[in-house]
Amino acid sequence: MNFKDYLKSLGISDNQHLIIHSSYKKIKAEFNPVSPEEVIDELKNLVTKSGSIVFPTFTYCFKKSSCDYEIFDRANSKSKVGLISETFRLSRDVIRTSSPTHSFALWGKITEDINETNSPESPLGKESVLEWLTNTLNSFVLMLGTNFSSLTYGHYLEVAAKVPWYDYSPWGYMNVLPIGVSIEGEQQLKEIPGCAKSFINFEKYLLEKNLIRQHNFGQLSSYFISIGLLYQEGLNYFKENYKELLCPAGTCPACDSRRRKFL
Ligand SMILES: [Zn+2]
Repeated sequence: MNFKDYLKSLGISDNQHLIIHSSYKKIKAEFNPVSPEEVIDELKNLVTKSGSIVFPTFTYCFKKSSCDYEIFDRANSKSKVGLISETFRLSRDVIRTSSPTHSFALWGKITEDINETNSPESPLGKESVLEWLTNTLNSFVLMLGTNFSSLTYGHYLEVAAKVPWYDYSPWGYMNVLPIGVSIEGEQQLKEIPGCAKSFINFEKYLLEKNLIRQHNFGQLSSYFISIGLLYQEGLNYFKENYKELLCPAGTCPACDSRRRKFL
């Protein structure tokens, strides 16, 4: 099987709107040689411009009280969430949004509604790219070689379900202030996304209920999940089982700060 056939076997086709999380290392382990550029080209060819491709290109440019912080430059700041994401950002006809902390690279239909000025004060909540995906039919999360610890959509669910800490930043211990910094200036933020590691408990729950399926091909394990389903199931799970969304006590300072305050 080649990489294109693998994508087809997952269910990828035209007119779909995809937010993608990927591990190039895992892809390369099964499809060698496939370059990051080829990965992007195959995805664009299948989805076509009647659909959309979205990659997080986060840079986490928060202001810090300690003054040692990076300043976001939309054109030049590299994505900190992987090689495929950075390759996609620099590829043809892709625009990047302006959030100093949580920017996205966009291609296709979505660029008719969201342009590069998009930078909501709730970076992954209201008016974000994730809200557009939630409100658009035929939207999916595609995970290539990653698990739910990279499920950006989980942060949208935290805000939508109003988990107890949804507007409490857990990054104080790193001197992080609720302010994004870019070369264009500073932006006050609310609803700062926290730690995503324990979103794997939501993954386990969906697997146990047979609501999602892991597609395994050698070392590469993938998910292709409807955002409608994630939203519906997620809202219930996040409201009722929010305690499962923090790392075990004593293992993560960010989650511990939320636990101390809210549990
Ligand atoms: Zn944590």
